[in-house]
Amino acid sequence: MPENSDIVKVFYEIADLLDLLGETFKPRAYRRAARSIEALSEDLADIATRSELEDIPGVGKAISQKIQEFLKTGKVRALEELRAKVPSGLVELLRIPDIGPKTVQKLHEKLGVSTIEQLREALEEHRVRDLPGFGERSEESIRRNLELYIKQQQRSPINTVYHLAQKLLNVLGGLSGVEKIEVAGSLRRWRETVGDLDILIASEKSEPIMSAFTQLPDVKQILAHGPTKSSIIIRDGMQVDLRVVKPENFGAALQYFTGSKAHNIALRRIAQKRKWKLSEYSLSDKRDGRIIAQRTEEEIYEALGMPWVPPELREDTGEIEAALENQLPKLVELSDIRGDLHVHTKWSDGRDTVESMAQAAIERGYEYIAISDHSKRIKIAKGLAETKLREQIEAIQKIDEELSDIRILSGVEVEILSDGSLDFSDDVLAETDVVTASIHYDTRGSEEEMTERLVSAMKNKYVDILAHPTGRLVGERPPYSVNLDKLMETAKHYHVFLEINSHRLDLPDVEARRAKDRGLKLVVNSDAHWANGFEIIKFGLAVARRAWLEATDVINTLPFSKLHRILKHVHIN
Ligand SMILES: [Zn+2]
Ligand SMILES: [Zn+2]
Repeated sequence: MPENSDIVKVFYEIADLLDLLGETFKPRAYRRAARSIEALSEDLADIATRSELEDIPGVGKAISQKIQEFLKTGKVRALEELRAKVPSGLVELLRIPDIGPKTVQKLHEKLGVSTIEQLREALEEHRVRDLPGFGERSEESIRRNLELYIKQQQRSPINTVYHLAQKLLNVLGGLSGVEKIEVAGSLRRWRETVGDLDILIASEKSEPIMSAFTQLPDVKQILAHGPTKSSIIIRDGMQVDLRVVKPENFGAALQYFTGSKAHNIALRRIAQKRKWKLSEYSLSDKRDGRIIAQRTEEEIYEALGMPWVPPELREDTGEIEAALENQLPKLVELSDIRGDLHVHTKWSDGRDTVESMAQAAIERGYEYIAISDHSKRIKIAKGLAETKLREQIEAIQKIDEELSDIRILSGVEVEILSDGSLDFSDDVLAETDVVTASIHYDTRGSEEEMTERLVSAMKNKYVDILAHPTGRLVGERPPYSVNLDKLMETAKHYHVFLEINSHRLDLPDVEARRAKDRGLKLVVNSDAHWANGFEIIKFGLAVARRAWLEATDVINTLPFSKLHRILKHVHIN
């Protein structure tokens, strides 16, 4: 069944194509119709059955016919014809901020530019400035806008989007008339990267909220400004969509806009079996239009015969089946975490002392931390030589004795050298309490080489944890090639715990889930390099939750009295 949003997309595309063909009035008519349809709370199909399409503002005979054609065939012939007339890349060029149809036409006709890539080349070769009416300044402005556009197409790592979202929630949440505010979309599902940022507000009056939103100081461009939905691009290129809904529809809207698409399709199927309809407005009975649930997500899930599903699980990877059988996992929570086993200090590349890291951990209510500074091979991170490490072990012991609120373990993040041996001898490793092994250099080996290197390190009898096993730094550095199955098998056999590193987010949630399914336990660490750095554990925890992990799957939820028994060589004092 086509949705209203599908026809909205068709009409916007028709408008863009007509723009490019130099039409002046028709594009406006299509956009007006598209906006009215966006604001509808009813399916076009239902309106069409009552022959009331032309009652929709902006929908005349011609447009109404196209809606009917689309409902019947899933296509609109006029659109296909327009597409045949205009090179397909030109519509995308229109999405670049401040570039209108006339500019696109000129770039196309005079410079043969019909794709983003070709525009980039033309700019690099300074061919744009020579066009009549352009010049150096407009070339520069097109270049900047193109960069912004390209950035906006990329997904951003969750940690940057998260902080932006918090700021926006604070500002928008303080506006008068806002009854509820939440993020939706992939940020609410805590995906490791986020495309657009979706915010949802419940309010009786949307206009003042929308005006405030489009006038935020960071707005770079306004993509849309409507009564129910507005979209902006903010300074760093991120698109933010705000929807304002009536308080009674908030639960249905939150459910709908949180996604994922696959999860929502599966839920709608369950609704359909009962002759119900689940939309962004409500769960209702198709036969008489009776509202079954709409105000909260909990009511909606309950009406569909299942408990509320945590957003992190909403990917249609078994969560609906589990929910229907009341078998959802009890996901690990921040309050379950009792310590952090990957912490850096001034001794290597950290910014704070052992004392201040310990103090910050105490303030978080942690029972233990392991100081794990780099080993000597990593000079760039001021890795410790043996003598320095021994000095540090002594220093930590003293501080540990002074502080009664926390156990401070001496550990090390020991480098796995190119041949798979470790940067410290076993004698030195034996003096520490926890050994975390990892790779930071020479990461270009083949999958076999990298896997063999990691595996041989994991076989060392002192290694407890394999840190950031894939080496990825989300959004910045790709993973090295490695056979994770082999690592998991080795981890199981040699009692090594794979790390979910909250800074790098290098272990994908699906892999962490496979590790759990293979019976492995994991550790969620911050890799904090300063006292405020502990808080990023929420991002690692999100990976754990998306991987269906419960507290029992994560070793740093254990009290110290149990933890020390599963680590290989903790010195108990
Ligand atoms: Zn590291
Ligand atoms: Zn580290």
